[in-house]
Amino acid sequence: MSSSPSTIRVAIIGGGLAGAAVLRGLLRYPHIVVDMYECRPAFREEGPALGFTTSTQDILAAIDPDLQRCLDRAGAVLTTTETRLASGPHIGREIDINGLGERCKKNVDRQAFLNEMLRGMPPRMMHPGTRISSVTELGPGQGLMLHFADGSQKKYDIVVGADGTHGFTRRLVLGSDEFLSNAYPTGFWRVSIKVPLRRAQRAMGSQYSDPRNPRQVTWIGDGTAMIHELLDNSREAQIVVYGRTDEATEENGASQSSWARLFTPDEFQEIFSTNRVPMCHGMVDLIQSVYTVQMAAICQLEHRPAPTFVSSNICLIGDSAHSMLPFQDASVSIALEEALILSTLLGRLPSKEAIPAALQAYDHVCRPRAEQAAESSAETGFLVTGRATGVGLDANLLQQHLWHKYEFLLDGTTDERRTAATMVMDQLMGVESGWA
Ligand SMILES: Cc1cc2nc3c(=O)[nH]c(=O)nc-3n(C[C@H](O)[C@H](O)[C@H](O)COP(=O)(O)OP(=O)(O)OC[C@H]3O[C@@H](n4cnc5c(N)ncnc54)[C@H](O)[C@@H]3O)c2cc1C
Repeated sequence: MSSSPSTIRVAIIGGGLAGAAVLRGLLRYPHIVVDMYECRPAFREEGPALGFTTSTQDILAAIDPDLQRCLDRAGAVLTTTETRLASGPHIGREIDINGLGERCKKNVDRQAFLNEMLRGMPPRMMHPGTRISSVTELGPGQGLMLHFADGSQKKYDIVVGADGTHGFTRRLVLGSDEFLSNAYPTGFWRVSIKVPLRRAQRAMGSQYSDPRNPRQVTWIGDGTAMIHELLDNSREAQIVVYGRTDEATEENGASQSSWARLFTPDEFQEIFSTNRVPMCHGMVDLIQSVYTVQMAAICQLEHRPAPTFVSSNICLIGDSAHSMLPFQDASVSIALEEALILSTLLGRLPSKEAIPAALQAYDHVCRPRAEQAAESSAETGFLVTGRATGVGLDANLLQQHLWHKYEFLLDGTTDERRTAATMVMDQLMGVESGWA
């Protein structure tokens, strides 16, 4: 057993969910001093709501028991999930998915949840409006220098790159090879809206938007998936629609022009014309009542698998490590699992010399898991948009392929991975397992 370790200084670059989760996880360790830097003037999370399965809620509780309560304070809605066909020969048929169903997850607005995660955090650790322009290594065992956009600099022992899909820390770890560093467009795109519940009920009917029985329903169409759910203590409804273009995507990284696709109202209607469920038409009408002139669909990007998430003192987490398709809410679950494992490993550091062992152990356990999640999310994307080869809109085949699809996320074995990571760290440090 080591005596009290020297202070270890950690800089988190990026104040999204991944960065915030690492911050919360590290706060419990008195020998770690942590700062979180966010370039935007406030901590912001954009995009559609997030779904937290019971397994993901357990991960939150393991990071910090109060994080589970943050979900409720952010108006999370306990939701039953359903998946049904909106098109094809088996229209209306429900597809059962093992582990999903009755009241199986909590859906929450991501900005509301981030606000709750960061509420009450010590202001001295939080640095909004602070862009990090570069990081330089100071030599073996000497730590890292953070360079700020205003020209100032500060020394740290560890940098956590939580700066998202387009952040610069991925290049620090992987080098300047654009094939690995840049996310590329997958051909999937997304449009989402959030409206007051009453307005959604007027457009879609109240069968599926009853606040007494909140449901998240995914409608599988011919090249599309339409999802609706309730948020903000059931005061609001969210609609997210995904589509897929079959045009070839760029081979070498995403160009700036590929972040969005524009559709005229007629083109947009046409995309969903084979969906024969009346409430799907209601959803399209509702989206068109928000985007009256043109639909701006966000292209869904993905990174190629990284050969490593770490260098000696820098590690990647969340979207900077692995941007992936959002079909299983896997990216947020995986980011939180990474935050738990990383903070556990850093919390066990006996000295600065052990930092490379902790980061290697993090990489060893977390990277294969992220690769599995990215692959599964992509396969699920093809299935729920009716575009999986040899499956299409056949309900029996969809049932067969989707039944086991979520099990790897719901298996509740995060504790085993956390234990595995600590054992790897111990081995790398040459210390008997059981050291604490
Ligand atoms: C539009 C959108 C939709 C998504 N939909 C889903 C979904 O439905 N389901 C799901 O599971 N996941 C989804 N995801 C992914 C999920 O939100 C993320 O995996 C999760 O929130 C973790 O993100 P992050 O914290 O790694 O990155 P981000 O949330 O992108 O945060 C990175 C932060 O770093 C900051 N930053 C960047 N560069 C610097 C710098 N140089 N200095 C300081 N700060 C910097 C940015 O301003 C940003 O706030 C979506 C993501 C996006 C963007």
